[in-house]
Amino acid sequence: MTAPRLEVRVEAIEENTRTLVDRLAGKGIVVTAVNKATLACPAVGSAMLRGGATGLADSRIDNLARTRSAGITAPLTLIRSPMPSQAARVVRDCDISLNTEGVVLDALSAAAVAQGRTHGVVLMVELGDLREGVAAEDVAALARTIGQRPGLELLGLGTNLACRSGVVPDQEKMDELSRLVEKAESACRTGLTVVSGGNSANLDWALSTADPGRVNELRLGEAILLGTEPLHRRPVVGLHTDAFTLVAEIIEAREKPSRAWGVLAQGAFGDQAARPDTGTVRQAILALGRQDVDPDSIVAPAGVTVLAMSSDHLVVDLGDHDLSPGDEMSFAVGYSGLLRAMTSPFVAQVEQVPPVGVEPTLNRF
Ligand SMILES: *Cc1c(COP(=O)(O)O)cnc(C)c1O
Repeated sequence: MTAPRLEVRVEAIEENTRTLVDRLAGKGIVVTAVNKATLACPAVGSAMLRGGATGLADSRIDNLARTRSAGITAPLTLIRSPMPSQAARVVRDCDISLNTEGVVLDALSAAAVAQGRTHGVVLMVELGDLREGVAAEDVAALARTIGQRPGLELLGLGTNLACRSGVVPDQEKMDELSRLVEKAESACRTGLTVVSGGNSANLDWALSTADPGRVNELRLGEAILLGTEPLHRRPVVGLHTDAFTLVAEIIEAREKPSRAWGVLAQGAFGDQAARPDTGTVRQAILALGRQDVDPDSIVAPAGVTVLAMSSDHLVVDLGDHDLSPGDEMSFAVGYSGLLRAMTSPFVAQVEQVPPVGVEPTLNRF
């Protein structure tokens, strides 16, 4: 089979979604599943919906358009503030967007009127992480103007923490969001239906809080896809962490000294850490490079040590493994490894595990 390839177990993604949907339902919180790390792979998006996600979200309108053309009819949300130049596409290809800017709202309103559609708006609030968001004191006033723009409907408020600065979404931050919802409701004289508390970093809070307040939605990507939470990159109990496996092929396997010799300067990607002299190692080169995956975001099989990676070569110490050119090796991936593998034109994507007797489908996007 072709290599390198990313094997995707969609049923693990479906089960992860269902587990999170069930646990959060007890708190009155629904899950919008974020599929941006897979470039909106429709098989993954469908698995998320089968698992109970109420809709799909992405930060790029191209990915949402692709989701729609794959025949997915669930509500689609653009979770990066729209580019004004793309307002018409945003209104056409998705149902809801997260917003912070009056000029963007004007452009969305004009596009919605031109297309005879209503576009849903969630207003994002800045609660300290210093990425997108309107200052707390400006929320009510801006919220009031949204429903006055033809073609737009204010659905609610949202916030995003732990992305730029690692600010933890705790009870205090979520209580502040709930208070702002109430302020916005009185300013608009209408109820807000969506209170989007955040991303996978909110799970610790959401699963342990006795008081979710007004928060009734989370936008979850990493926890569903990788089974981990981003605050400490720990596995979430009960979730699969092996939905994705990166497989690469060995192109050289030789006994080599553990230490380089000659006058040493920089390697292709900067200084190489000096390696201890462990005599001779069983070294293998795999046809996998920085163009395919982030070397800091892969985990080698037990007993194998990653030594170095250039654009196209991964060098490992095989330890006791007896492998030869043509043999394959599997790696677990972290978030940035997944992202790069999914965006590399050199990495094929293969859906696992096909029913017995059926060839796996090769899915190049
Ligand atoms: C990426 C993103 C998410 C999902 O984050 P995960 O950590 O993958 O759950 C949610 N909201 C916004 C605004 C995002 O950009």
